[in-house]
Amino acid sequence: QKRRKEQLQLLAAEDAVTLDGMHFHLASNISSSKEFELAIKHGAEGVGLFRTEFIYMDRAALPSEEEQYDIYRRVVEHAGLHSVVIRTLDIGGDKQLEYFPLPEEENPFLGYRAIRISLDRHDLFKTQLTAILRASAHGSVKIMYPMITSVEEIRSANQILAEAMADLDRRGISYDKEIPVGIMIEVPAAAASAELLAAECDFFSIGTNDLVQYVLAVDRMNEKIAHLYRPFHPAVLRMLKMTVDAARAHHIQVSVCGEMAGDERALPIWSYLGVSHLSMSPQALLRVKHSILNISAKEEADIGRSCFTCRTTSEIEELLSARTHLEV
Ligand code: PEP
Ligand code: MG
Repeated sequence: QKRRKEQLQLLAAEDAVTLDGMHFHLASNISSSKEFELAIKHGAEGVGLFRTEFIYMDRAALPSEEEQYDIYRRVVEHAGLHSVVIRTLDIGGDKQLEYFPLPEEENPFLGYRAIRISLDRHDLFKTQLTAILRASAHGSVKIMYPMITSVEEIRSANQILAEAMADLDRRGISYDKEIPVGIMIEVPAAAASAELLAAECDFFSIGTNDLVQYVLAVDRMNEKIAHLYRPFHPAVLRMLKMTVDAARAHHIQVSVCGEMAGDERALPIWSYLGVSHLSMSPQALLRVKHSILNISAKEEADIGRSCFTCRTTSEIEELLSARTHLEV
């Protein structure tokens, strides 16, 4: 076990390239400073999903612009030339804040959550955007909105972003005026209208954790139905393809940042769809890279193509699990 860990650690500085030359870009999801340290240790190529919730948690009041700026700037400076995708606050659903009571809801995952809160609480949202913008003066930063379901939401969020920019201009503070702005694709409405959304933003990042939950109507927190939570369901794969096709048609980048990105069984799907940007938990980085180094993207793509002809999740899972050479 220890030896295996050491062997994997040797891969940290290597490029993630398949035997036949397909390059994958492996970034890390981070939800704490500890995870960021581990991401660096494991050779992450930047941060593909900065879950900012932790900055708001375990404290008595909302973090100020200055406090947030300090944290974002530190991560951005550390990331060097790699980019850092900062997702705006995604509370609600399963995540609560002590000083910011959310209403009791029948269906919190279908309720007051993520971008819905931000668009309702401009004060809070603008403070966060301002802090992110200021950090963009120190490296490569991208802004990402969570749980987008419509074009209107992107436009409303961008309007507040424009206000934050105007304020910074007035204050004479610099930031990246060309900062890329992207969205999470994690709701079926977003996948189904991806070609409309693609025209309004700079990149997509597919959040499979929520996408699977919403596509299959299976609460991701409910143990009782955990067996129904199937990322390789044919409907999920079709949602992924729709999203990737739309991104390609509009020449915007698409990456995957849900747990599926850190599951090596999904590599045939990414190879087939042509998705080369993955962002995963720091613990998964070296394991996935090890797999990538031992596969042929062409062979994987053939398996991925076959998955799309399967009628059942089990058939797909069988196809994907038959690749025993991936065992580390
Ligand atoms: C997701 O939904 O896939 C995702 C990456 O976001 P989170 O897990 O934070 O909801
Ligand atoms: Mg999500």
